[in-house]
Amino acid sequence: MFGERTDGTMAHISEVSSGLECNCLCPGCGTRLVARKGDKNDHHFGHYGVEDGRPCQTGPETALHRFAKEVLARRLELELPPLVIGEGPGKWIGYPGGIYGFDAAFLESRLGEIIPDVIVRKGERHLLVEFQVTHTCDEAKIARIVAMDIAAIEIDLSGLPRDTARADLEKAILTTAPRKWLHNPKLRAAQVELERRGRERDQVLDRAATSLRKAYLAACAEVRSMRTSCLAYDRIAARHLAHAVGIEVPGIGCFTVPPRDWQAVILADAVDLAASGGKPLITTAGALRKIRQRGWLRRRFSGLTDAEAAAIRADGTPFDHPANAVAAWATTLSRLGILLPAGAGDRWILWQQTAGTTRGRQAAKRF
Ligand SMILES: [Zn+2]
Repeated sequence: MFGERTDGTMAHISEVSSGLECNCLCPGCGTRLVARKGDKNDHHFGHYGVEDGRPCQTGPETALHRFAKEVLARRLELELPPLVIGEGPGKWIGYPGGIYGFDAAFLESRLGEIIPDVIVRKGERHLLVEFQVTHTCDEAKIARIVAMDIAAIEIDLSGLPRDTARADLEKAILTTAPRKWLHNPKLRAAQVELERRGRERDQVLDRAATSLRKAYLAACAEVRSMRTSCLAYDRIAARHLAHAVGIEVPGIGCFTVPPRDWQAVILADAVDLAASGGKPLITTAGALRKIRQRGWLRRRFSGLTDAEAAAIRADGTPFDHPANAVAAWATTLSRLGILLPAGAGDRWILWQQTAGTTRGRQAAKRF
């Protein structure tokens, strides 16, 4: 796509005469180039005296690399990627992204231990620009850039089609090709700022957790001291399943009744369903709906975030969301051979024998 003119600059195939008249060398290996500008094929350079189909290994990459640097030095502007950390409302924006004009560009000048592709300067500020054509900027070079604490971006030209027109190539180099920050001095300050914000958030969460934990422990003590008053428990006890309810799982304080009661209601419904020939499925969503309908959920604990739940648990308090409390209870029943997991960790089915025994006993009762 490019040849090297006698003055060392890059010539696009569209800018030269056909044949050896192009007066160009391969920027990779130095062989004389022939410009093939026929009607049939895409216009391209060939190495003089070498068959097509045995392309030079480094020529095209070196050429694109050098062309990119020339374009930058001539146009003195380029699109910079946005500089952001995080997402959502806590997002830190160091630079929104956009066209950046600069005063000067230096090609392949040494800077400490590295030789960046281009150094662009605007006033006193410097920015390093690396072009990725074959391989990405290596870790050692990035580490040195970070150590020098200089802003640097990498522009990825590896995806450009070989037959890109000259104008499109310039556009890709300056604005449209993918680009990312390798480093930016603002990042360090941002990190400090974000850590400060994080500590503040933790403190707020801690204070909230302390009051939530106190309320939760009081709720646990309350439900433990309550006498059972629900008919479902009697139905369960009559079916010799008393050991399946009243199981203390993390989260029992999220309910306004003792664990015996909400567990009995869910299990009794499944047992009844099996007895009437239905599919005795228990799901966390279905169970919570029944519990909520009875007004047995404490609103304060039913909509907490995972971060809030973790903060309450931080001192070992056995807290969990109501849905997880239901799941923990059902999981215990699967271990006891009363329920069988029915997929996804949120649904269980009454084990046939549990249902069967009950049905048998009910049938026997009818005689
Ligand atoms: Zn070559």
